Amino acid sequence: MPNPAVGSRSPETLQLIEAAEQSVLFTAARPAVIMEKGEGMYLWDTEGRSYLDFIGGWAVNALGHSPQVIQEALAEQSAQLVNASPGFYNKPMVEFAKQLTELSVFNRVFFGSSGSEANESALKLARKYGALHRGGAYEIITTLGGFHGRTLAMMSATGKPYWEPLFAPKVPGFRHVPFNDLEAMRDAISERTCAVMIEPVQGEGGVHPADLAYVQGLRELCDEHGILLIFDEIQTGLGRTGKLFAYEHYGIEPDIMTLGKGIGGGFPLSAMLTKERYNLFEPGEQGGTYTGQPLAMAVGMAVVGAIVEQQLSDHAKELGDYIQAELSSIAARYQLSGIRGMGLLLAFDLPQPKGPELVAAAMANGLIINAPSPSVIRLMPPLIASHSDVDEMLKRLRLALDAVLDA
Ligand SMILES: *Cc1c(COP(=O)(O)O)cnc(C)c1O
Repeated sequence: MPNPAVGSRSPETLQLIEAAEQSVLFTAARPAVIMEKGEGMYLWDTEGRSYLDFIGGWAVNALGHSPQVIQEALAEQSAQLVNASPGFYNKPMVEFAKQLTELSVFNRVFFGSSGSEANESALKLARKYGALHRGGAYEIITTLGGFHGRTLAMMSATGKPYWEPLFAPKVPGFRHVPFNDLEAMRDAISERTCAVMIEPVQGEGGVHPADLAYVQGLRELCDEHGILLIFDEIQTGLGRTGKLFAYEHYGIEPDIMTLGKGIGGGFPLSAMLTKERYNLFEPGEQGGTYTGQPLAMAVGMAVVGAIVEQQLSDHAKELGDYIQAELSSIAARYQLSGIRGMGLLLAFDLPQPKGPELVAAAMANGLIINAPSPSVIRLMPPLIASHSDVDEMLKRLRLALDAVLDA
């Protein structure tokens, strides 16, 4: 990736970059920048340069960087109880589970630390259901272009063609069908199927919302066959799409929903929610050292409470519409197309496959954006972003577009 860092850098920064390149296992091409501080909509690097953050920790920092509510929740809870044991209930765990069941159509919650872990729980539960109630059915159908995480099972679940040959042998028992294609799903369901899993808006796949008729059709199909409908709301949940949960856009109820990313506002936290009739695990079948970890519970409860109290779902819808309108007004000039999304999960297509160059040029202009594929730019800012943050983002984005796109 081109180095967005401009100008000279301090010896301390150069040393940190060298240490990073020598000691951190290589898994991603990262810019030669060391992040040091965050506040609200901005990140600062060790050179004191600030960046307006329209990725928000990857749709994670719902309340922005280092919000007061997280600082306070951590301070208070860490003075009270850092960890009891996964073998005990603890107070914030119970309160947070209750809060989530009151805000959603679900009544049972399992907590994890990462989105992948929540999805693993969901698929284990679906297979348990298949074993108990559908003659041993174990197959889970997911959609092409979807993304469900990076554990071995989630890479197997994810319908990403370039992951197909990796890390063989994969976890068996998955089928992938085209997204928004109800007939393909109908054809794929067999007596082996125990569940269907989709993202209501494919996030990593480039921000593609599921059609209303598709989701309603999936619900009917699943009911017809007695199989579970799982919504991976790790990216779409907690206000991101303009509703607290994206299933609310579709007038249906999934059987299982997974949450991650925004639920902890930056603290590692995830959850799997389901209904009482799928409360099926026996002791020992599912768990985790950090399930219901008190610090995570206290932070999650504070973050979710703030999202609800500050009506950030409504704000996400309103601000997302504003961003789409503003992008539309510059679309002709830069030949931008496919402006799309829901709430503050947005994307547009570039006229040339210059996404990585644009991301680097934006960073050089103090703006963080994401290119999930070479011709697609995605925006997923903190839900607290304001109209003036959007105006500033557009100013910096235009500078980057001017620098990168052929006139
Ligand atoms: C990010 C993401 C995941 C994986 O979450 P991790 O916390 O990285 O394990 C799964 N599903 C969706 C839709 C995601 O956006």
